[in-house]
Amino acid sequence: MADYILGIDEGTTSARAFVIDENTTVHGFAQAELTQIYPRPGWIEHDPMQILNTQLEVIRAALRDAGITPDQLRGVGLTNQRETAVVWEKDTGRPIYNAVVWASRHSVEVVDKWVSDGIGDLIQERTGLIPDAYYTGSKIRWILDRVPGAQERAERGELLAGTVDTWLIWNLTGRKSFVTDYSNASRTMMMDLKTLQWDQELLNHYGIPRCMLAEIMPSDSHFGDLEATFGAAVPIGSNLGDQQAGLFGQAAYQPGRVKMTYGTAGVLNINCGATPLRVEGLTPSVAWGVQGKVAYEVEGVLFSMGKTMQWLRDDLQLIHAAPDSEWYAGQVATTEGVYLIPAFTGLAAPTWDPHARAAIIGMSNSTTRLHIIRAAVESMVYQTRDVVEAALAGSDIKIPELRIDGGAVKNNLLCQLQADILGIPVIRPRNPEATIFGAMLLAGLSTGVYASLDEVESKWVVDRVFEPQMSADRADELYSGWRAARELTKGWAHQVTVA
Ligand code: ADP
Repeated sequence: MADYILGIDEGTTSARAFVIDENTTVHGFAQAELTQIYPRPGWIEHDPMQILNTQLEVIRAALRDAGITPDQLRGVGLTNQRETAVVWEKDTGRPIYNAVVWASRHSVEVVDKWVSDGIGDLIQERTGLIPDAYYTGSKIRWILDRVPGAQERAERGELLAGTVDTWLIWNLTGRKSFVTDYSNASRTMMMDLKTLQWDQELLNHYGIPRCMLAEIMPSDSHFGDLEATFGAAVPIGSNLGDQQAGLFGQAAYQPGRVKMTYGTAGVLNINCGATPLRVEGLTPSVAWGVQGKVAYEVEGVLFSMGKTMQWLRDDLQLIHAAPDSEWYAGQVATTEGVYLIPAFTGLAAPTWDPHARAAIIGMSNSTTRLHIIRAAVESMVYQTRDVVEAALAGSDIKIPELRIDGGAVKNNLLCQLQADILGIPVIRPRNPEATIFGAMLLAGLSTGVYASLDEVESKWVVDRVFEPQMSADRADELYSGWRAARELTKGWAHQVTVA
């Protein structure tokens, strides 16, 4: 009989569930949308009960799709949107406020205050993170300030707080397990990157009682089981933040292994081994704790990757669908000096300028939409080189190849250009769903479906290798044009008045 593994992927826009067997063949799948709540510009919230109920629904639907019952599962792997904060009542399980979503700017003033109080350096020293409203701790602080009486109740031990993994596991296990893992906790701005424990000094500054927070465990722990919700004692055998799950799903177990995800946004993750690494412009986090060993990573987020294609499609109406970009971009050999810098919401890694704005530059009378579409595709590969260069400049890590995933990697032109501009092979695996597969493979390892990491690695199969074909001089020349164009977009929001 097959060894089935259930994968739970709680994302920002949808809840998904997969059932695979030990050969990673998919037997069941289900997905449901999550409602995005926008109380005001820049704020995003989710209803935590909807997160839970939608997730339960898709798990049931995926099991039905696979034609199996819960007792046929060997284990469960979990991955989720990171940094999002939920605060709820211990007794009733009722959230006291909506989930404040990772991308939301609710807690900008909370963080400004911490920085003006002079704890910015301490935060960075302990957690590795540059203080920002993005991270969970500031969102928990905001909820405790917002809801009357919440601070006192938290101090009396009546409230619990956590990231979405903690919220889901607590509920899935019938409120038995109150836990998180290193990878999720490293994104809260509350965990000491070296001790892998909540940092009491920071919690004191934040005014967040320790008793609200879950136990931090290695990523391949037994996080509890589904007895209470699904009537079968199936162990939850993995818990990873989405980007770290993607790195694991790309079999990037060794230092120097890198994955790049080309989704709506882009995220590059580099495994940097057993000690935390600080690289200017990139974010250090924990990749995972697996088989008794901790791996650290650095991460480079790029706000607009596939999103630029959506903009060409929906706003400029230059293409009908994102995949069309490949055909159009292929109609011209170069952009003839045109660059598109997609800094719509500022520049992210490694330059971090919230005041930068997007630009198309270098146009002449002979510029056509083909050049602009090609420039949009090229912007994805130049941004990737930006973060790779930052990693190479700030460390002695070697990056021999790039493993890629995400919706845009079906675009062969993009993949080839990426290999050309980086001058290293770009490898597309047969299975582009690295995130959920990473979580499921780790659950398979921890529950004994797989005997070793080597066996897990054998599930990562190459679809296509893109070898660099362009000369290094030509690649450098094109890239230096990008850098010059990128510099021009910096601080633009300061220079103009938006009427
Ligand atoms: P996410 O999980 O971040 O929502 P996906 O990994 O599903 O995103 O990727 C979707 C993104 O990839 C969209 O922004 C879309 O515009 C882009 N995309 C999809 N197919 C292509 C393609 N063939 N070429 C370029 N971009 C693409």
